[in-house]
Amino acid sequence: MQHTLAQPIKCDGISLHQGAHVTMTLHPAPEHFGIWFKRTDIAKAEHALIKADVHNVVDTRLCTVLENAYGVRVSTVEHVMAALWGSGIDNVLIEIDGSEVPVMDGSSEPFMFLIECVGVVAQDAPRAMLKVLKTVTVRDGDSVATIAPCDDGFMLDVDIMFAHQAIGAQRYSFDATETTFKQSLSRARTFGFYHEVEAMRAAGLARGGSLHNAVVINEEGIMNHDGLRYHDECVRHKALDCIGDYFLTGMRFLAHVTTSRPGHNINNALMRALLAQSDAWIVVQEHDAFVPAHMVHAAQSLGVSAIIS
Ligand SMILES: [Zn+2]
Repeated sequence: MQHTLAQPIKCDGISLHQGAHVTMTLHPAPEHFGIWFKRTDIAKAEHALIKADVHNVVDTRLCTVLENAYGVRVSTVEHVMAALWGSGIDNVLIEIDGSEVPVMDGSSEPFMFLIECVGVVAQDAPRAMLKVLKTVTVRDGDSVATIAPCDDGFMLDVDIMFAHQAIGAQRYSFDATETTFKQSLSRARTFGFYHEVEAMRAAGLARGGSLHNAVVINEEGIMNHDGLRYHDECVRHKALDCIGDYFLTGMRFLAHVTTSRPGHNINNALMRALLAQSDAWIVVQEHDAFVPAHMVHAAQSLGVSAIIS
């Protein structure tokens, strides 16, 4: 079934690029509502709403940016989107008093924790899932992404390659039937290189970035005193970003994604290419498909039984 929050959640923090203090409230929403952002700092109510939708993505250079028909934006949506995916949420209204989601600790964990604190409730409508029927591939420079049929559930294979010895070549496989988003991916933080951070700051970006909300790498290695949360945290964060960006379809998948050197641009391009090819997918109801392991675990930890039926 579809799920929403049991109660509203409020959080606040600094935004990564603008460095602004932002307050965000996640509200329960009815069946078939989907995921919408509402800018409370925009006076006209009809201008304030921005749907979380792959077709509303207008910028992918440093983060994923959504924009509505009135030119109103909300940016850096990918980590909260991934947390909603990992928590089994389908319907939510996200009020925000600025144009960028707070970065929190640079991962999805703080959002997951808040959602767990209030709980998730089953609703009265079945969940739709996107079942991939044909393989679709997109390329963007050195990056390649392929989505292919997979009857067993959702699988994601990610590889990255950075010349820096602190990262190098990393590969990660996320199998939703065997591993959980919470344990395997949710704590992986965004990362960047110190020399690039300085250049971004000079351009007015990454103003809120710090060692409190990102893994920062300089010539000598990892600058964060506590080191990494996973030995391969960088590739896991890329997988987290993929899940957040893909969830802008509003649906979970029966599919196998293989993506090499992913970024927000190719993540969005893959979803647009898939949706544009109408014979490459169908929508099925979840109880006709399967229940991913992360949903069962989330349901059990929250004491929700309807989700497993
Ligand atoms: Zn990210």
